[in-house]
Amino acid sequence: MTDKRPYLEALGIPLWVPRRPLAVHPRSPDFPPLPGEALAEIKVQENGQQRLESPPMIDREEPAPLPDDDWTPPMDDGWGPVSALDHADLAPPPVISREARIVRLGWEELTAEARQCQACGLCATRTQVVFGVGDRQAEWLVVGEAPGADEDRQGEPFVGRAGKLLNPMLLAIGLRREQVYIANILKCRPPENREPTPAEAAQCRPFLERQMALIRPRIILAVGRIAAQNLLDTDTQIGKLRGQVHRFGPARIPLVVTYHPAYLLRSPREKRKSWDDLRLARRTLAAEPPGRPGVPPPP
Ligand code: URA
Repeated sequence: MTDKRPYLEALGIPLWVPRRPLAVHPRSPDFPPLPGEALAEIKVQENGQQRLESPPMIDREEPAPLPDDDWTPPMDDGWGPVSALDHADLAPPPVISREARIVRLGWEELTAEARQCQACGLCATRTQVVFGVGDRQAEWLVVGEAPGADEDRQGEPFVGRAGKLLNPMLLAIGLRREQVYIANILKCRPPENREPTPAEAAQCRPFLERQMALIRPRIILAVGRIAAQNLLDTDTQIGKLRGQVHRFGPARIPLVVTYHPAYLLRSPREKRKSWDDLRLARRTLAAEPPGRPGVPPPP
């Protein structure tokens, strides 16, 4: 008999099973009596002689067999609905939240999960998910805002005009693009490059946090107001956030804020301040204890 229990449960139909295992025929090899079940000795005919024999016993718990489809439970106290009984094997699997699942994923599963994410409306307008790029063991994590049109098309962060400025900014402090890890607050492009909504940022956050946990960067560079305000959970203006060292998360990773390269393209005179921020970040990292934040260095 196929196990119809999950279907009956899903339909809300109570299943009745015996409070004790069903009495079974003692000779049945499929259903030998359970431990402690008192069954009369049985007569065995062998070589024309009769003798009494105890029924076979098993020393493990067998689940009670389910009755046939057209069977109805007898109306006595020996039967109860399955929900009233202790049948751990019938309990539904524990419900794990999306966050609790993402927090355990490795790189490959995380990438796959992000690529099929439909947690917010941006999944309907994206060309592709822009997961992140670079060295998964990088000391530097660069976090931007969200993919633009070029990134959406190519599937990689900071490949458009802003990226063409970010690369030399990193080189100015001795870092090639491949040496850092680059990600965004959002993995999908908002239509017309509008700002991410708080709800979109919140839905995307578990992915970025898991990336951070896997990379364990020694420093975070937040480029632009949206990245800075989201990571630091503040409404403070970017002009007040830059020029100082913040700390991110329980591992207290140093975080430095600078202007977004797209802003610098529009306001080149601010490049000087950005250069100061980058040098501050470099100095900060040099002064940090060796090893990864939150992990004691090897003896
Ligand atoms: N701007 C961003 O903030 N991120 C990108 O990936 C591209 C442009």
